[in-house]
Order: sequence, then structure tokens, then C-alpha cells
Amino acid sequence: MIMHRYWIPLFAVLSCLVATLDASVGDSDPLYRACVGQCEKTGCVGERCFPHCKFSSDGVSIDGPWYMQEPLYMRWKQWDCQSDCRYNCMVERENQREAPGDGPVKYHGKWPFKRVYGIQEPASVVFSALNLAMHFHGWLSFFILLYYKLPLKQDKKGYYEFATLWHIYGLFSLNSWFWSAVFHSRDVDLTEKLDYSSAVALLGYSLILAILRSFNVRDEAARVMVSAPLLAFVTTHILYLNFYKLDYGWNMKVCVLMAVAQLLIWGIWAGVTRHPSRLKLWVVVFVGGLAMLLEIYDFPPIYGYLDAHALWHAMTIPLTYIWWSFIGDDAKFQTTNLVKKFEIPFGQKTITLQRWDCK
Ligand SMILES: [Zn+2]
Repeated sequence: MIMHRYWIPLFAVLSCLVATLDASVGDSDPLYRACVGQCEKTGCVGERCFPHCKFSSDGVSIDGPWYMQEPLYMRWKQWDCQSDCRYNCMVERENQREAPGDGPVKYHGKWPFKRVYGIQEPASVVFSALNLAMHFHGWLSFFILLYYKLPLKQDKKGYYEFATLWHIYGLFSLNSWFWSAVFHSRDVDLTEKLDYSSAVALLGYSLILAILRSFNVRDEAARVMVSAPLLAFVTTHILYLNFYKLDYGWNMKVCVLMAVAQLLIWGIWAGVTRHPSRLKLWVVVFVGGLAMLLEIYDFPPIYGYLDAHALWHAMTIPLTYIWWSFIGDDAKFQTTNLVKKFEIPFGQKTITLQRWDCK
């Protein structure tokens, strides 16, 4: 019953979010629409004209050699033209709105950002790149810890039983932040789908990992049984987004549900476990939960650069550091426990028995 009290406001917030994602105030404005329509025909907004818009109305390029007139090139060119027109019309509309003191509104589901060297959301790009670097640093430190600092078995493998799962997690994270940086610098259909798919894959995989680690699932068959239904669901969801419908509202629900589920799992585990690094888990769960609120309580960009989404990306940078530090501690903790179990005093020396010696 207690859960219901939290779910109702959560869904209320989610439904408001979905409503704002479906239609934006900015692009339904007739003045903005007229400006874009005019620009796509003439290639100009006021005094400014764009080279990308030099194609005739039947879609054939006016200039350039024949090999530059391929359909794909034309698609890029039309995308560029549309993007330039929308951007400049948006800037013009926002300037007009600013004069009587109106606040910024969203255009095509996004806040009006100022471009820097053609990069659409520079703050989000910088923070995504820093997240990428932080994950690489964390994963590399974890790798060095496992194979160069901690004791190894006779077959040169580490004792830590979740190592492979965390290596795969590292790859999913690097992939996801790479596409996030690409998407925030240039928002087209392809980069958007790559970013969304990578983020969903990372969220789904880290949910599986949360279950496997917190319930200490070590048996191979049990791991497959737990992950199979989740893997099937996440794969179907990614295929649905890419090849059926990129439904923002539905995707947001799936992502929030997967994120809340793993935060709850880690949070409850941190509460009941006697893990020496449970404090780090607490910090990640608590700050991670706060950071998620930024995704929900969306605000317009400050000075046209720093919006809630960028700030959310900024908050995950220190969290990533603490997170990989926790993963390293977990490897140390399990390794020392396992090694201790198999160390037997033998005269002056100690012999370390390998696990397979005990079976
Ligand atoms: Zn993002």
C-alpha cells in the first residue's frame, strides 16, 4: 500500500512529461512555421542564406557534378538545409519573444540551444565526453587491479566472479556515452536512434547486473535463466524503437522503470549487506536518484547552454568515479575472502589451495 503513494505522483509526473514531449509550443507557432517554410524554398532567413539549401523544388541539385547528386547526398543536404532553417528561424523567433519578456519555449521537443561551431548542445557534448573518459579510466583501473594487483589463480584468471560481467558493462557504457556525444552534437534520425538504442541497452544490461550481483548469482545456468527474459524484453524494445516507432513517451516509461528498479535493488542491498564499501553504493543510489529528478523536472537552458539534461550528464561524471571505485572494492573484497578461505598454514609457509583443489 505504501508503494501506491509513491507510484501515483511518479506516474503523474511521467504523464506530464509525455504530454510535453509529444507537441512543442515553439514549432506550432504560425510565425515560426511560416519562417521555416519560406526558408526551405528560398534558402534564406532575413539577410542570412545557407549554401545547403541550393536545390530546386523537384529535389535535383542545381550545382555540383553528377556524382554529388546521389540520393543519399541529397538527403544529407536536405537535412542540413532543414536543420539550418529551423535553427535560424528559432533564433529569430526567440529574439522576438524575448523583447516583451516571454521565456523560452521548446521547438520539436527541444529547448532553444545556442550552437557552438555547429554543435547543437555543446554542454551535453562536453559532459558526455567526460563521462566517456571517466568510464574508460574506471574500467582501465579495474582491469589493472584485477590482473596486476590482486592474486591470480594458476590459470592466470582472477578470483573475482563478476569480472567478465563488469568488463561487458564497461563496453556498454563506453558505447552509450560515445553515441550520446555524437547525438548531442548533431541531432538527426540516425544519431538519435543510435543514442536511444545504446542507452536502453546499457540500462537493461545494468539492471541484469544489479540482480546478478546483489543476489550473488554465481551459477552459469542460473545467470542465463535470470537474464534471458530481460534480454528478450530489451532486444524487442530496441527493435520496436528502431524499426516500428520511436515512441518517446513509451521509451521514457521503460527507461525510468528500469532505472528505478536497479536503484531500488542496489539501495535495498546496500541496506542489508555487510559489504565494506556499502557507503559508496548509498552515495551512488542517493545522488543517482536525485540526478534522475533532473530528467523529470526539465528546465530551459541557462544562457542558452546549460539545461536540466546537460546538468544530469554533468552529475553522472563524479558518480561514475565512485561507481568504478565500488566495483574495484567489490573485486578486492571477494578476492581476499576467497584467498583467505584456501590459505592453509604449512610449517613456516602458507600454501594457497586453488578452488578446484577443494572440489
Ligand atoms: Zn543526453
